[in-house]
Amino acid sequence: MIGRGDESMGDVSHGGEDNPPPSLRLAAVAVAAAAASAEGGNREGMDLWHEVSGGMEFLQGQSTETAVAVAVAVVAVAAGAAFLLLLRSSKKPKGCLDPENFKEFKLVEKRQISHNVAKFRFALPTPTSVLGLPIGQHISCRGQDATGEEVIKPYTPTTLDSDLGRFELVIKMYPQGRMSHHFREMKVGDYLSVRGPKGRFKYQPGQVRAFGMLAGGSGITPMFQVTRAILENPSDNTKVHLIYANVTYDDILLKEELDSMVETYPDHFKIYYVLNQPPEVWNGGVGFVSMEMIQTHFPAPAADIQILRCGPPPMNKAMAEHLENLGYTKEMQFQF
Ligand SMILES: Cc1cc2nc3c(=O)[nH]c(=O)nc-3n(C[C@H](O)[C@H](O)[C@H](O)COP(=O)(O)OP(=O)(O)OC[C@H]3O[C@@H](n4cnc5c(N)ncnc54)[C@H](O)[C@@H]3O)c2cc1C
Repeated sequence: MIGRGDESMGDVSHGGEDNPPPSLRLAAVAVAAAAASAEGGNREGMDLWHEVSGGMEFLQGQSTETAVAVAVAVVAVAAGAAFLLLLRSSKKPKGCLDPENFKEFKLVEKRQISHNVAKFRFALPTPTSVLGLPIGQHISCRGQDATGEEVIKPYTPTTLDSDLGRFELVIKMYPQGRMSHHFREMKVGDYLSVRGPKGRFKYQPGQVRAFGMLAGGSGITPMFQVTRAILENPSDNTKVHLIYANVTYDDILLKEELDSMVETYPDHFKIYYVLNQPPEVWNGGVGFVSMEMIQTHFPAPAADIQILRCGPPPMNKAMAEHLENLGYTKEMQFQF
């Protein structure tokens, strides 16, 4: 930063003189001071700012023209310093993940949500640490199955990097599931081995006009993460249309959170729930997700929309066929 400031001032002085005019010297020192402060070099910054204030005193004895030139230079420098500081404060903090090596995170809370679903909260190294997971990506979790054999499976946290000091997983545990066994056995105080980020999908605000999301069961977690990121960003106007399929009403994951997001952002987020075995009173879809349901609830095929899929393999296969029949091209689809 200091180097760039010195260079630009050199351009202004046209020729690299040994003794530039006081106004330029003062501005150059101010740039260096701002840069040193922005870089966190407090002592160096303080010394340089001292020189700037000394220069201001010296200039009190100069002509009005010189004083005006200096005032302009100092205002420009102050603006530059503010910009530098802004850049620094908006710099993303370093994440806690390593894509090559597993790292250990302590389980600090485990809350059973239903008979086979629990929310796991893991602590990050400090209360202000961020996980560092790009929106749309997931982590690999390593554990042991019932026979003691190593198992590694992908999971998408329901928290974002705006949730400091922690990350959360909502896990559906299957009776015969290998990684399910590991999560079922985990107790508060145990450590989970995690590697990441992983995944081909990376969300950038405004990359599409609208998303259609087809989720089945625990396939809701990547959709939840992307939707939260969109809705919580006031400058992101992307629309989200979710079709969420489950067997019974009790199987619907994150229902409270999803419904509250629809209530808060009704113009941006819509959900159509589909159940194989609906309760007696039910205003959602019944059976498997059909072509008609997709046609009714999703944006029509277009270059600026995208359909995201995540569910059990048979559902993903059936949905890919429906989407193709409805005219959604391969480029318009993504499967997590
Ligand atoms: C990108 C991505 C993100 C994911 N995020 C999450 C998440 O946040 N939370 C979460 O709970 N899961 C998530 N999953 C699913 C997760 O990776 C595992 O597949 C799941 O936990 C089952 O693993 P397991 O080892 O316990 O079961 P396995 O040993 O693989 O399966 C054993 C048996 O369990 C049953 N089973 C397993 N998975 C399913 C299923 N999806 N539908 C119906 N029956 C099934 C089947 O009977 C199967 O034969 C995600 C998957 C992907 C690809």
